[in-house]
Amino acid sequence: MKKAIEELQPYIPEQPLEELQSELGLSKLVRLSANENPYGTSETVKDAVVNWAYSQSNRYPDGDATELRNLISEKFSLDPKQIVFGVGLDEVIVMLSRVFLEPGDEELISSPTFSEYALHAEIEEAVIKKVPVLANGGIDFSNMLKAITPKTKLVWICNPNNPTGTFENVKDIEHFVSQVPADTLVLVDEAYIDFVSEPNATAMDLTKKYPNIVVMRTFSKAYGLANFRVGYAVFSKEVAEQVQKVRLPYNVNSIAQEAATAAFKDQKFVDEVVKNNAEQRTQLEAFFDEQGIKHYQSQANFIFFEYKDADKLADYLLHNGYLIRTGLRPNWLRITVGTADDNQNIERLIKEFSK
Ligand SMILES: *Cc1c(COP(=O)(O)O)cnc(C)c1O
Repeated sequence: MKKAIEELQPYIPEQPLEELQSELGLSKLVRLSANENPYGTSETVKDAVVNWAYSQSNRYPDGDATELRNLISEKFSLDPKQIVFGVGLDEVIVMLSRVFLEPGDEELISSPTFSEYALHAEIEEAVIKKVPVLANGGIDFSNMLKAITPKTKLVWICNPNNPTGTFENVKDIEHFVSQVPADTLVLVDEAYIDFVSEPNATAMDLTKKYPNIVVMRTFSKAYGLANFRVGYAVFSKEVAEQVQKVRLPYNVNSIAQEAATAAFKDQKFVDEVVKNNAEQRTQLEAFFDEQGIKHYQSQANFIFFEYKDADKLADYLLHNGYLIRTGLRPNWLRITVGTADDNQNIERLIKEFSK
């Protein structure tokens, strides 16, 4: 067995909600630990999935996800060949690590960030270099640049960043990419980009200008399709062709393709989700400010905040029906922005606990 696997600390998925709820003897438990969509899924997805012909079950899916590919290409004015689909963005991260990292290569990440980047680099026996975020939680681009060596193959920019929630504008990203060596790939993970309130947030257009930039998206968050597992990356055409070689030919099943297609067509649902999230995010940040609870400025659907008895607070919330994310940084917690109801309850519970 590879030594890297024996030593690997695996990603621990969320415990099934019903199971945890009954263990705790609760009548209701809301998960605000996984940045899921609290507003559900577009109604049109239901129709698409229910209407999907059962009679096609014996056939392999469309290995190119043609309809979804064409829709996305049109929306962002891309060549359809620039897109590679994955079983969630998770699988795209696996493919990228597999294609670009050899043992001893370096991968550069900002810290803290999404844990899967380092996990898959470890599996490929690459060396992970971390550059701490700035005091405001943002990416330290100048120290990231300094940390790049001839061995650096991948650089991850999670934007907005999970878990800090902070956002980098396209100008800063372009300024960074323009100074990165041409054979170092810059990966911009835009899992939460729909939630950004500023206009022109996406770095998608940079894929037409720089062959070494990749922009990644998922249907799991704003589109409310976490269970269907659909994500994609946008590359320059030449790089996409290489990554396609390692993709399993039928990775995204037909029902997932149908669901993502329907969800993508219903931008009204996404706009509504984004609007509600922005309102509740503002509300929750104002509450933290009022309470003197330090937090980063979020442009995502979650907020990262500091609390001196963090684990105890998380435990108190859990026993009162709200699961939030611990263990990302000592005395810091990440909470998904829930509905107005959730917010009111969370604020009441935090006030109660802080007394
Ligand atoms: C949720 C998340 C993903 C994974 O998305 P899936 O498409 O559900 O696999 C990727 N990157 C970041 C930063 C995330 O938070």
